[in-house]
Amino acid sequence: MFESSASVQPAPMIDPFGRTIDYLRVSVTDRCDFRCVYCMAENMTFLPKRDLLSLEELDRLCSAFVARGVRRLRMTGGEPLVRKDVMMLFRSLSRHLESGALDELTVTTNGSQLGRHAADLAAAGVKRINVSLDTLDADRFRAITRWGDLGDVMRGIDAAQAAGLHVKINAVALKGVNEDEIETLIRWAHGRGMDISFIEVMPLGDIEPSRLDQYLPLSMVRARLMDRFTLEESDHRTAGPARYVSVRETGGRIGFITPMTHNFCESCNRVRITCTGTLYMCLGQEDAADLRAPLRASEANDALFAAIDSAISRKPRGHDFVIDRRSKRPSVSRHMSMTGG
Ligand code: SAM
Ligand code: SF4
Repeated sequence: MFESSASVQPAPMIDPFGRTIDYLRVSVTDRCDFRCVYCMAENMTFLPKRDLLSLEELDRLCSAFVARGVRRLRMTGGEPLVRKDVMMLFRSLSRHLESGALDELTVTTNGSQLGRHAADLAAAGVKRINVSLDTLDADRFRAITRWGDLGDVMRGIDAAQAAGLHVKINAVALKGVNEDEIETLIRWAHGRGMDISFIEVMPLGDIEPSRLDQYLPLSMVRARLMDRFTLEESDHRTAGPARYVSVRETGGRIGFITPMTHNFCESCNRVRITCTGTLYMCLGQEDAADLRAPLRASEANDALFAAIDSAISRKPRGHDFVIDRRSKRPSVSRHMSMTGG
């Protein structure tokens, strides 16, 4: 277990709009073994390794947020499971589950490395994971991820379920790419006892294809699904932004994550840190706070807590994403892989 110098600081984090921040997403690396067309350019430049927080520092940072009332931690990236020795971080953070300080430790992954990590994740107290998968067709999978292998991900999902992890599938809805497969994906996921959420593509970071060409409004997807299935409003909620419906025919649930057609910011309970210790108060805004300097300046957490408080006091009301022909530039210059999904 890593040493923790987090002194007890019970004050919860409440932003200027009265929202309690109890959910932290942590991008443990900006690197990835895929190059999904909506997420990254093929020739991405990654951060120099020396700029990254060590696993010990990430643990200390997460623990400081837990001390300030964070009840859910989600590890993401980049691809979190490609970071060397990342299981040490999961194992170490699991002490907060054991103490009851944390309700949930979870991960969003592309699934490529799950085959070798699923059992260790379960042993570290992870109960639910999100696996991103946009298609069940191997060639299409290769075209979307550029570098990925569908077989690896399928083996990863098998391993996760065998380890007792509750898997939820996340799929980005892509115009003209997987829109003909949405029903198939739903039937497949529900057939394996997994919920599935669809995500609208967001204008984050420069990529080669146009986001306008990729963007498929989920209002349209939902309307089409109503011809195929009986969708019933569900009050099921996770800590994230998905809104769920139950499908009478399959008994499973579909989530809709609609940053573009329906802004869900009013109930935002989360902030994000990058692998260099930058805190983003909103996925869709540029404002950020450096936590690496106060983290490294002292073994005590006073300066760190002061920096967190100052940042939370600036948390914006919400994002202003636009995808249209006039806005040639992405709304936010950094890629999703930097701040984490
Ligand atoms: N590599 C992991 C994965 O793919 O699950 C974790 C990081 S990834 C950035 C997290 C989620 O963000 C994935 O479900 C991915 O499909 C989604 N994503 C990436 N870029 C996006 C974009 N521009 N708009 C909407 N979702 C995006
Ligand atoms: Fe990698 Fe995830 Fe981005 Fe795909 S969506 S390139 S798997 S970080």
